[in-house]
Amino acid sequence: MERIVEIERFSEEIAYEVTLRPSSWDEYIGQEKIKKNLKVFIEASKKRKEALDHVLFFGPPGLGKTTIANIISNEMGANIKTTAAPMIEKAGDLAALLTNIEEGDILFIDEIHRMSPAVEEILYPAMEDFRLDIIIGSGPAAQTVKIDLPRFTLIGATTRAGMLSSPLRERFGMHFRMQFYTPEELGQIVTQASKKLDKPTLLEASKEIARRSRGTPRIALRLLKRVRDFSEVANESEVTLHRAQYALDELGVNHLGFDEQDIQLLELLISAKNKPMGLSTIGAALSEDEGTIEDVLEPYLIANGYIERTARGRIATQKCYEHFRLNSLTEGLFDGQ
Ligand code: ADP
Repeated sequence: MERIVEIERFSEEIAYEVTLRPSSWDEYIGQEKIKKNLKVFIEASKKRKEALDHVLFFGPPGLGKTTIANIISNEMGANIKTTAAPMIEKAGDLAALLTNIEEGDILFIDEIHRMSPAVEEILYPAMEDFRLDIIIGSGPAAQTVKIDLPRFTLIGATTRAGMLSSPLRERFGMHFRMQFYTPEELGQIVTQASKKLDKPTLLEASKEIARRSRGTPRIALRLLKRVRDFSEVANESEVTLHRAQYALDELGVNHLGFDEQDIQLLELLISAKNKPMGLSTIGAALSEDEGTIEDVLEPYLIANGYIERTARGRIATQKCYEHFRLNSLTEGLFDGQ
């Protein structure tokens, strides 16, 4: 089943997203602290006429890591090459990428925690000394060939900071943790996108979509697109609050942005009656990959205080019980059981 609040990219949506993707700081809403810092570092490196130091972004998918990498390249006036770690299978693949870049260029590697150790080894001297050490041949006849590289900037993005090896993490001069967006920020993103889509969305409708988007721009844009469809079929020239609510309800997204899978997870934890539940048990119960639960489902629920991650597993919080109209952790539905 496709999740309406799914954050994975689908190829048909890439073209759609590109047109909505902000290309300047003005259009990039929220993440104020990150923006402020980056503006300083970009200006300083431009003054010194140097490549920007390597940058690492981490945070759940759909929060704007790729977008910000593209803005950095625009601001630096640099070319950007985009790839994802699983696409760099061999050391030679990375060598081919690196020998094709020019002074000051940006290499953006998504899902950088999935880099193979052999490729990572090649990346270390490239990042630190702008040098490629390539081993040719094997056994006693093996030779190391050193190739100088132009000074480039590596921008890495990861959903799992914890899975990054520490030597790799340490080679990034800047680390930024992306935050979930507030409903106000998402409302601005929806309004901005609806203008680009030439489909005016009334303020209250934008706010409604924003509230139900799990703090994530990619979800907000996806919901906007679906709401727009409902509005068009109803022959309305603008998206009204009523239409937005109707469409979102039809799509199975509740007033907090939870869909069926979120509800299933929360109910599962509630049914555990305060006993922490391990990731593998949750995965089996929801028939869902553990990685997806950790990367996609949990972060928003944790950031908003619905569940807690403890050493022994996941547990539902007071707020979660309240959401399901239970009064306290000890009273209520499970009393006397
Ligand atoms: P990530 O790389 O973190 O998975 P993306 O950069 O691909 O996320 O962002 C997903 C979509 O959300 C983009 O297409 C972009 O249009 C939109 N978006 C992300 N961040 C912002 C923002 N701060 N302001 C406006 N739109 C944004």
